[in-house]
Amino acid sequence: MPRFSGKTVIITGSSNGIGRSAALLFAQDGANVTITGRNAERLEETRQLILKSGVSESHLNSVVADVTTSGGQDLLVKSTLDKFGKIHILVNNAGAAVADATGATGTDQSIDVYHKTLQLNLQAVIEMTKKVKPHLMETKGEIVNVSSIVAGPQAQPDFMYYAIAKAALDQYTRSTAIDLIQHGIRVNSVSPGVVATGFTNAMGMPDQASQKFYNFMAAHKECIPALVAGQPEDIANIILFLADRKLSSYIIGQSIVADGGSTLVMGCQVHDIKQMMGL
Ligand code: NDP
Repeated sequence: MPRFSGKTVIITGSSNGIGRSAALLFAQDGANVTITGRNAERLEETRQLILKSGVSESHLNSVVADVTTSGGQDLLVKSTLDKFGKIHILVNNAGAAVADATGATGTDQSIDVYHKTLQLNLQAVIEMTKKVKPHLMETKGEIVNVSSIVAGPQAQPDFMYYAIAKAALDQYTRSTAIDLIQHGIRVNSVSPGVVATGFTNAMGMPDQASQKFYNFMAAHKECIPALVAGQPEDIANIILFLADRKLSSYIIGQSIVADGGSTLVMGCQVHDIKQMMGL
């Protein structure tokens, strides 16, 4: 029997990248999956990808929603319960390094960017966790958060708001893990390094600049010692591992780093990011 048979998973940010890959793997492994994002076209691509892999329509719930809004969060929870009856796993994956429209980085980034960044990468996770908690208490379920190696301990001067949001998320993971384990709910996270997804596009980088960035990183061992950018599946497989109580039941409140060795060297900060993208 598939390992997630009879389990229901909500994966935020599954219209692209890591979330899309996790949605596909969960669905192929028997789960009922709620996929979601704001972009209806890309969300439909995820849905088609899953259906084409042989998963029945009855295992899918596709919801266009903004996870930073209360209405969007409520719709995710309600539509999942309406279609599948229970919630066993919440994957808080939606996230982005919100770029300043003026191109400003570091301390010059606006307070508006700060608010939007924190709202998406931290507050939405907190709100979704609170809303899904009673349902996970019922099922003794799991939460997997998607953090980032930018959380620290190294400094992140260019996109510091994104980095502090992820650092706070790591503390939230640890603290909720201890708060919720008394109810049988397990919380963990994964911290990816450079992964080739829509992440740089979402920051406003054109495809060509994004490709240059990934190529540069993969060509420099001081950036990624493994000399390869991660693929969405590299992270999605860890999400499934952390959501699988049979395999990871004794892991509580931890973050698994998957970064091709980047955090052990962190040499890429000596390079100018705009120069490497040819901007
Ligand atoms: P993508 O840009 O490919 O995917 C991000 C997903 O988040 C999309 O499905 C997007 O959907 C969704 N999203 C963004 N904002 C919102 C919103 N307001 N409401 C609902 N959904 C939203 O990037 P990744 O797959 O790389 O990112 C996934 C996670 O991985 C993020 O938390 C990111 O911080 C983290 N990460 C990524 C790394 C990388 O190198 N790629 C490195 C470290 C961490 P839509 O646009 O349709 O709303």
